[in-house]
Amino acid sequence: MTTYLWTPPAVQSLPVRGKTERLPINRLFFVGRNYHAHAVEMGKPVDKTVERPFYFTKAPQTLVESGATVAYPPETSNYHFEMEMVVAIGAPAFRVSQADAQRAIYGYAAGLDMTRRDLQLVARDKGRPWDLGKDVEQSSVCSEIVPMEGQIIDKGAIALEVNSVTKQSSNVDKLIWNVREIIADLSLFYHLQPGDLIYTGTPEGVGAVVAGDKITGRVEGVAEVALNVGPAQ
Ligand code: MN
Repeated sequence: MTTYLWTPPAVQSLPVRGKTERLPINRLFFVGRNYHAHAVEMGKPVDKTVERPFYFTKAPQTLVESGATVAYPPETSNYHFEMEMVVAIGAPAFRVSQADAQRAIYGYAAGLDMTRRDLQLVARDKGRPWDLGKDVEQSSVCSEIVPMEGQIIDKGAIALEVNSVTKQSSNVDKLIWNVREIIADLSLFYHLQPGDLIYTGTPEGVGAVVAGDKITGRVEGVAEVALNVGPAQ
């Protein structure tokens, strides 16, 4: 039996609707600029005819369950919400076709890709990695996983409110690269594994939060997600 110097960190996991077993998390992938109106508000419009999707990752340790209260993070004064539909991978996938992509799907969730926007934009404009802007502790918020094995979601309202005021309201049918295209493309680079989550990108309307804000969001037909922003540490 392997022994360790100290107790290893716990496996990250999420509740699964209708099950007592939790879904163990492997990796967290995020699609950048996957709704036109958001790409435009970021000043970086996307031309799908000449571009491919791009991705960034966050450590699984950044995962936070819906309903949590998290401290306003350090070293930012522009902490942003991004409402996203999340795909949970349930079967290995490497170089899968778009036609076969649904075989990799275990289910879906509603998520938040919380972002230090000030640091992300500095990194972007200086050609530096996005980690300090994106790989923020407690920034990958996720609802329960809703089992929908083999199903493709290609439409449905996606919306977010801060303190009950609507900030983001769009539809998953506006994804630039849809679920099939994302899984097929990402599987060219990675051997996707059960427990990988793919945050599929945010629609327009992103904005800053302050301590005391209550964020609520939903993906129609999937789930709701919530986050409370606490004071800075
Ligand atoms: Mn995002």
